[in-house]
Amino acid sequence: MIEIIAFLTAQYDEEEAAARASAEADPAPWTAYAVGEQSTGLGTGLRSGHGYGSVSAADDVDLWDCEGSSMLCMTAPTARHTAMHDPARVFVELEVKRARLKLHSPDTRRMPSRCLVCLSDRAGRMSDDWEPDVWPCKTVLLDAAVYVGRPGYQKEWIIDDD
Ligand SMILES: [Zn+2]
Repeated sequence: MIEIIAFLTAQYDEEEAAARASAEADPAPWTAYAVGEQSTGLGTGLRSGHGYGSVSAADDVDLWDCEGSSMLCMTAPTARHTAMHDPARVFVELEVKRARLKLHSPDTRRMPSRCLVCLSDRAGRMSDDWEPDVWPCKTVLLDAAVYVGRPGYQKEWIIDDD
């Protein structure tokens, strides 16, 4: 069961490395410039009705400037989405995810291991009979579900609510 900790830690480390490299190339915060979401594409080749936009890094360099053309742009919603997920946000999210994983550590003194935090099944029983959730708890499984399909993700981590 500790495999899920190693799996999540590897995902977080990979995301942090990618965000760090991105932050070096295009410092955060990123700002979106988005216009004309009801337009017809303005002949830019973009999907009709989504307008167009671009994203600039903190140094006011447009993220597309490396392409060597000021005509390159993205749809307005994608520009806003990209700016909202700049490296600064990724760093904060990773800090939260790592803290949550640490908080929901397994109590390995028990067999099976139990979550140190979660106690979800309280229905119909007296508090003296409550048992902490078997680990990995749903919180850890939900965090892992973000990475379903990645190498190392295991089918037994899929949440079965039946
Ligand atoms: Zn938990």
